[in-house]
Amino acid sequence: MNTLKIIRTLRELRACTAEWRAAGETVGLVPTMGALHDGHLSLVRNSKAQNDRTIVSIFVNPKQFNQASDLEAYPRDEAADAAKLEQADVDVLWAPDADEMYPPGFATTVDVGGITDCLCGATRPGHFAGVALVVTKLLLQSLPDRAYFGRKDFQQLQVVRRMARDLDIPVEIRGIDTVRERDGLAMSSRNWYLTEEERAAAPILFRVLTDMAETASQGGDVERVIARGRQKLADKGFAGIDYLEIRDVETFELVRRPVRPARAFAAAFLGKARLIDNVPVDPVA
Ligand code: AMP
Repeated sequence: MNTLKIIRTLRELRACTAEWRAAGETVGLVPTMGALHDGHLSLVRNSKAQNDRTIVSIFVNPKQFNQASDLEAYPRDEAADAAKLEQADVDVLWAPDADEMYPPGFATTVDVGGITDCLCGATRPGHFAGVALVVTKLLLQSLPDRAYFGRKDFQQLQVVRRMARDLDIPVEIRGIDTVRERDGLAMSSRNWYLTEEERAAAPILFRVLTDMAETASQGGDVERVIARGRQKLADKGFAGIDYLEIRDVETFELVRRPVRPARAFAAAFLGKARLIDNVPVDPVA
């Protein structure tokens, strides 16, 4: 087992990865914003199994938050995260501060068009430009062979794939299945915001998505199941629904009767938390 090395400067990160590459070792990168849970650790396990070295980055990226209060309140516990990464036998924790990532004078943007017009792109303006920028930087800083992203943030995964392809970044982007609590709730750092009562109500989001997916793949009445889903969410205390939709996994066009792989997507507020989730929808047989 290695001791976890915590790196905070790009200079040191480059020196470390140069040594690995000189020794012919492959590198996996797992980008995160910290407050690590078993979903993140599943990405880590995949990277460890498929690469000689694994870097986990923790950077709460100010550019992808569209509300200062959300950025401020985001859970942070680097010591606990480092302990989990040490336990998981990760090689490097890359934890730059905001000035190292965005030094004074920073002026570049990375904006992926098309697939960012809907879902979280429509409800959180600027969010995906912030994500695309920081992921571009993280990939170019560590130059991994493979980088790991959760399907829990499916639109983000597709934005990252598009960006890496469009910018010819030589990395393989791997999507990893969503890790859930026993009652179906997708693990998320944002679940920390939930009160006990909200936590008990939260799994309805996954159940509504599952209903939508089953109805759609059986060729049923999608509009009706979505209307019923909205009602179920409201009854359980969800106060605002950003979206509840079925979309194609490649084009992100709205789908009623899937003939190609699609997914059911949801984003909704429960107390202080904005929860997002999605499930696969099989094409109608
Ligand atoms: P975050 O720290 O929330 O930005 O997430 C970092 C990475 O972990 C992203 O690629 C997420 O999609 C992924 N992730 C977050 N939650 C889960 C989960 N429950 N299962 C699998 N991957 C996840």
